[in-house]
Amino acid sequence: MMTQPLRVLFATPEAVPFAKTGGLADVAGALPKFLRPLGCEVILVMPYYRMVKQSGLPIQYLGESLEVPLRDETLRAEVYQGKLDKDIPVYFIGRDEFFDREYLYSTPKGDYFDNAERFIFFTRAVLHFARHIQFSPDVIHHHEWQTGLIPAYLRSIYSNDPFFASTATLFTIHNIAYQGLFKKEKLSLTSLPLEMYNPEGIEFWERINLMKAGIVYADAINTVSQRYSEEVQSPEYGYGLEGILRKRRDDLYGILNGVDYQDWDPSHDSHLLARYDLKDPSGKWECKKDLLKEFGLPPSLEKVPLFGMISRLADQKGFDLLAEIIDQFFTLDIGFVLLGTGEQKYHDLFMQVVKKYPQKAGIRIAYDDRLAHKIEAGADLFLMPSKYEPCGLNQIYSLKYGTIPVVRATGGLDDTITHYDPAKGTGNGFKFTRYDAKDFLTQIKAAISFYAQPEHWTKLIRNAMASDFSWDRSAEAYLQLYRKAIEKKRGKL
Ligand code: ADP
Repeated sequence: MMTQPLRVLFATPEAVPFAKTGGLADVAGALPKFLRPLGCEVILVMPYYRMVKQSGLPIQYLGESLEVPLRDETLRAEVYQGKLDKDIPVYFIGRDEFFDREYLYSTPKGDYFDNAERFIFFTRAVLHFARHIQFSPDVIHHHEWQTGLIPAYLRSIYSNDPFFASTATLFTIHNIAYQGLFKKEKLSLTSLPLEMYNPEGIEFWERINLMKAGIVYADAINTVSQRYSEEVQSPEYGYGLEGILRKRRDDLYGILNGVDYQDWDPSHDSHLLARYDLKDPSGKWECKKDLLKEFGLPPSLEKVPLFGMISRLADQKGFDLLAEIIDQFFTLDIGFVLLGTGEQKYHDLFMQVVKKYPQKAGIRIAYDDRLAHKIEAGADLFLMPSKYEPCGLNQIYSLKYGTIPVVRATGGLDDTITHYDPAKGTGNGFKFTRYDAKDFLTQIKAAISFYAQPEHWTKLIRNAMASDFSWDRSAEAYLQLYRKAIEKKRGKL
């Protein structure tokens, strides 16, 4: 018997290759490709940012516009279409007033003042667009605070709309620290019934919280690693939402992000000077030389452990730990390269580092995908001392490139990295648990000591490169979760 494909609408604020600020874009751009062979019909809907306009990717104006309610007005949205992986439709909601800007959500000075207007508009547009093209989803899989209101709408304004009568929702939290918190005056933008504005609903200490809307009203919720789904239920990690998450713990899951090995695999990575794989990792050596050249660092560093970092420069990523030990770190016989953008204080920190240690440190304050690939391949070790890490992708990319991660045991870092055990020869990296600069330095030194012992280092590289985090397994887990959300919606769970 032929079964009907499951119709899944991805509502996301970003997706590669169109627009990206972080790991969410990697997930939204990859997971749909892996759901298709499992029998899902997927479409994506995201905003038509300037970054999308300027991407140079084939995107067409569909010649139609949508009418989208916002407060008591009706605003127009233009619809554009592109493709993911040749045949997965990606629809873009355009309105230049909101989306034709240099950045997606915030400038280096702070958030855009009208993010509530921008993303409440986008959220309503998603629902109107689905109806417009008659794509009645079995599941809306929506991501982050920008789309958090979707299930609140389905349970209120659209609750009697037959078009969404059997639409379930799955809300994925990629980072609970970014919640979409706005003054309560912005509530009127949503047109939601006032009853929803209470502490059991979307109110959060006299403000509205769009992420909380997703947590309260979605049929199922997940975070991007198992460990993070446990952590967010505690005050240390929940950013004030731990109570509401504990209440919903029966519907809260953790699914580790996969990696798109089409993009991140040194055996066919077109950004690299030389390619390599598990059987013959010798090309990694060429990549290291090339990376040192790229940063203008002396060839003498070829022989010492080269540490890499690629990151948003944000407190979350543990840069204060690195700052605390920076001089001790640079007295070691090492090299260091960093690629990142973000908070000014970290730009300043790393500019000082490069001034003080020009022979050892290469710093690039930029967003540069090509260079990110080169660092993954050319570095020997990768640092991620995060305060919290919902999943983390760079440590997983690092594994594939035989670049050994030194990480703090939190969230997805803990789920993906196992500490090296020299007696058994098991493990793919180095971990420390307390958020403590000394412990971080201890693991850096441990890693360096194994680097000097080729029999251990070869083993570590092999273990790392053999680790498999492809999307197949996680896509299957998402499919199961869609089914659970549907059952929940039908009142069967
Ligand atoms: P987060 O989503 O918290 O930023 P992740 O590790 O989950 O962290 O994902 C970060 C993604 O963004 C990775 O694909 C990483 O390579 C990429 N990235 C971060 N900063 C830069 C940068 N400056 N240049 C290029 N890629 C970057």
